[in-house]
Amino acid sequence: MADQLIRAIAADGGIRVVGAITTRLVEEARTRHKLSYVATAALGRALTAGALLVSNMKREDSRINIQIQGDGPLGGLLVDARLNGNVRGYVAAPSVELPPNAQGKLDVGTAVGRNGYVYVVRDAGIGYPYSSTVELVSGEIGEDLTQYLATSEQTPSALVLGVFVDQNGVEAAGGLLLQILPQASNDDLLISALESRLSALTGFTPMLRAKKTLPQIFEDLVGDMGLHIFPETKMLRFHCPCDGNRMLSALKLLGENELQDMIDKCEPAEAVCHFCGDKYEAACDRLTNLLAELKLENASQA
Ligand code: ZN
Repeated sequence: MADQLIRAIAADGGIRVVGAITTRLVEEARTRHKLSYVATAALGRALTAGALLVSNMKREDSRINIQIQGDGPLGGLLVDARLNGNVRGYVAAPSVELPPNAQGKLDVGTAVGRNGYVYVVRDAGIGYPYSSTVELVSGEIGEDLTQYLATSEQTPSALVLGVFVDQNGVEAAGGLLLQILPQASNDDLLISALESRLSALTGFTPMLRAKKTLPQIFEDLVGDMGLHIFPETKMLRFHCPCDGNRMLSALKLLGENELQDMIDKCEPAEAVCHFCGDKYEAACDRLTNLLAELKLENASQA
């Protein structure tokens, strides 16, 4: 099934439900960044969370950045998700692999690390990005972001994230976000019913692998609670809007001497986009132009 996101409400608007299928975009992240299994699971969960979290924002140019900086060997990851369905992201050490954890699952918690921080920046497209930081809980990403939602956004939430990857690549990836809105926040019966249903879930990818659609998953979970699924299906994709000219302009940071040296040796230079792994190459003539631009800029600042 194509990567997509759908939203619903239940319990007279007291429960917000968002579901996302991200199999293809996580597979694209895996191949672009040559991710190990555990890095695929970590980045895949974070990419999925980005798509889910940004979905509650309003303006089309809204975006959310999630940076997870733990003390584990992955060395941190960054995700940029936009309301238009475009997501991108990377991990610092994509090739790190770890043995499975005690439950036989990919050990994302150890890979990310249990000590560190989650930084979230929400940009509603009106010029005042809102940023907040919470400490990591387990490094498993779902729990860490649930903590962020509870403390920074004061919305009790449950985030179920899953990535199933094997030697053939990503077979299933996606997630669910359930939130209790203020009008239901005192309904203890409703909350405990939801909690017991969520704790009975064995993860998100088993449902996808059993060929369930997002509406069927919603129906299973809260179908008897006055579920109303919104008709819009948002398509999700891995997309990076990086621009070759801008990337190569960054080579000016090397300075006049270094650039001159590269031109003398006629050594082509390369700029790589962290987010998508695309490579941009500047041949000698391009470097000559960049050096000329840099000299002009330096002269005008002198
Ligand atoms: Zn890029």
